Formats: sequence, structure tokens, C-alpha cells
Amino acid sequence: MRLVGKCLGYSSEGKGIIKEQGLIVFVKGLFLNEVAEIEITYQGKDVCYGKIIKLLTLSPQRIVPHCKVGTACGGCVFQALAYESELKFKQDKVQEDLIRIGNIKKDVAAIVPCQNLLHYRNKIQVPLQNIKGKVTYGFYREFSHSLVTFEECFIENKAANEVIKKTVSIINEFRYPAYDEDQKTGIFRHLLVRTSENFKEIMLVLVTAIDEFPGRNTFIKALMKQLPEVTTIIQNINVRTTNVILGTKERILFGSGFIKEKLSGLVFKIYPASFFQINLAQTELLYMKIKELLKLQGDEIVLDAYSGLGTIGMALSPYARQVISVENNEAAVQGAKESLRINNLKNVTIIQDDATRYLEQLANTPAKLDVIVLDPPRKGTTQAFIKAALKLKPKRIVYVSCDPATLARDLKDFVAQYEIKQIIPVDLFPRTYHVENCVLLTLKQ
Ligand code: SAH
Repeated sequence: MRLVGKCLGYSSEGKGIIKEQGLIVFVKGLFLNEVAEIEITYQGKDVCYGKIIKLLTLSPQRIVPHCKVGTACGGCVFQALAYESELKFKQDKVQEDLIRIGNIKKDVAAIVPCQNLLHYRNKIQVPLQNIKGKVTYGFYREFSHSLVTFEECFIENKAANEVIKKTVSIINEFRYPAYDEDQKTGIFRHLLVRTSENFKEIMLVLVTAIDEFPGRNTFIKALMKQLPEVTTIIQNINVRTTNVILGTKERILFGSGFIKEKLSGLVFKIYPASFFQINLAQTELLYMKIKELLKLQGDEIVLDAYSGLGTIGMALSPYARQVISVENNEAAVQGAKESLRINNLKNVTIIQDDATRYLEQLANTPAKLDVIVLDPPRKGTTQAFIKAALKLKPKRIVYVSCDPATLARDLKDFVAQYEIKQIIPVDLFPRTYHVENCVLLTLKQ
């Protein structure tokens, strides 16, 4: 079914919204006030999805994108839009989510823009598939596992793009098959590349469906020879039939098994499975904002919950009496403990635990916390975590979030006891609809 409609606004995922013939249609790559002929690709009860057949009226904010793939891969919904308009979308989205979901009427500060809109990501992961007898890489088309192939991704690190391209060509030279999800046969599932800006190190992770495969040593030698810029190669074995990319078993094939990166003047060891912010320059700005918000005096006990490699806690540690970092991912905890030693920080403790369980236990002791910083994954924190935090009554809380919707939901539970002082969006993910936020809460008297 086709229809003509005007874009009235954006969905939370940055898709243009058309309301026509009683339908609400989300259209990727359609911008405010543009009129287009669209085709409905999916018709649900509440919303439909559509794709642009022909643009009839163009936004003056429309620009020529770098990427040839367009919006097909589902990554950069805003690459054909002037950056100011993308920032406005993000600013509005944070404000609207806070009101609609959290009933929070506080004005959101002006978003901190990103200086580098291209090649800002330090991590790329691509699925591999057998297409016409060749192993091929790409990104999944939205809502599917069909591959959108690309020559170069313009938000990924340039060197990482090259490593992916060359690795796939070497896999093909060796005539290895990609893993076939339907048949459950073949070898290579994903490639993951992480790059370090400050140390010029590159990690290549080969995610395979089986452990041993013929000719592995010769293959590794070929990779090392043709990819001299790669400083470590790791095989990750994922035998699962789910969408989770990394398996639990790992083998270092070359180098140290990690890369190092500098953040906030400190050095961090990054392992394949540990979280590390993908936009280094913007993370520096985010952490500066966190420091500014907290204004630590040097005598505080700070809890860094959902701490990953302990980056926030360690960045705050020179200004605090004691920092406790809590994280449940084993690889991240290992990296955090080793990073702690490299940086020779004496007042930071790393704890491997579920953040909620840890805080609940703490709330049942006479322990005192002055500050909590929490930086949970997209799904936000738990009500039990918030309940324990309310019981512990730290004077200040900074909530760092990559999803305004779950942030708004969680903030709602703090407002009885805490005042929301500042909400600062930071653009960590240009060209996509994602937006990071840090929020300062202070204990009401
Ligand atoms: N603060 C870090 C990491 C934030 S990402 C940084 O700025 O880099 C969120 C982190 O929360 C991830 O490292 C993830 O492994 C961790 N995590 C997810 N669920 C958790 C839980 N229930 N308990 C503790 N940590 C958790």
C-alpha cells in the first residue's frame, strides 16, 4: 500500500511520523515537514512502518550523506540531516521523555554537541554470511538478519574498516565458510575490531561457531602478515544459537589479548567483552561534566555503580576520599583491577557484583555513602536499587544514562527525596538517534 504524507515529527528512534488515512506511519530518513510518497512495509495495530518511494518536498535541512548505504543498515538515521536539526531532535526527545514518562518539568540544559561527526566509533562489529559462495560482511537490515553490505562505514574508525575488509578477504582466500544460522554449519560468525587512539593499538576478534578449524595457524600467520597494524588477535568461540555476539570461551591467537586506551589522563585495559564507551573524545567531555556536577571536596565516599572498567570512579578518585566501583561483567572487572594497578590508585575498590544486590546489602549496614554515580545499560536501573539508594541517602547522585526513556522512568522514583538540579544531554552518538545524559540529584533537606 502506498500513500502520500507530510512528516509531522519524529518517533523516539528518529523516524519521521506521517499520519494519513487513520494510520500512524514511521518512516526512516524522512525529515520534519518533508512530503513523500511512501510504501507501507509493515502494518501493525498501533503503528506502521513505511519506506520512502519518492520525496516530493525536501527539507532545507537535508544534506548529501557520505554513506551510500543510506538508512538501510538502521544505524545512522540522521546522516542526511544538518547536524543542528539532529541536535534539536535529541534535545526535544530528552525534554519530552522526561515530561511524558517521568512527569519531570525541569528544563534540560543545552546538549553538548560532538565535534567529530565522522569515524568517531572505536568499536565495530559485523556479522558474516555466505553470499554467492563468498564470505560477506555488513550490518543487519533493521528487524532482520539480511545483510546490508558496505565498503566503508562513516562513523566507524577508518583503520578498523580496513581491518574488517582485509580480514574478510583473507577468510575468502582460505575458503573458510561463514557460519550459517539456518543450517548451523560453517565457521566465522562475527568480526569485532576495537581501536585505541592514544596507543595506536588494534584488537581483532574472530567470533567462530567452532573451536578448532583446519589451517588455523597458517591463517593467523596470514592475518599477522597482511595486517601489521593489528596488535592482538583473539578467537572467541560462540556455540550459542542466540543473537548474543560473543561466546564465553576465548583464545588469544596473537599479542596480549587486550588493548589500552587513555581516558581522563588514566590508562585502561580493554578486553573483548568489557564495555568501553565508543566515542572517546565525547566521553572526556561527559566525564568533565560529571566532575563539574559533583564538585567533590576530597572527603567523600563515592559509589560508582555499573562501573564497567571503573573509568568514572577512577576519574573521580583524585577528588574523593574513597571510591567503590561495582560491576557484574567478569572481563570488565578484570580490566578494572588491572587498570587500577597501572594507574596506581590507592583509594579505589573494585567489586564484582550485581549493582542492586550490592547496594541492598550496603543499605542494611551502617555504611555511609556521600555520592552515588550510576551508569546502567539501556534498560536503566531497578526499583530495588533506587529503594536502597533512598535508604542510604547520599547527598548527591549523578545518573548517567544512554536512554532518556528509562532515565525518566527511574528519575520519577527519586523525586520524593531528591531534587533534580541539572540534566545535561551529551551527544556521544552523532548521526544516530541515541543520546547520553547526565543528571545531578541532590538530597532534599
Ligand atoms: N560506567 C562505565 C560503564 C557503563 S555501561 C563507563 O562509563 O564506561 C554499563 C555497565 O553496567 C556495563 O559494564 C555492564 O556490564 C554493567 N552492568 C549491567 N548490568 C549490571 C548489573 N546488574 N550489575 C552491575 N553491573 C551491570
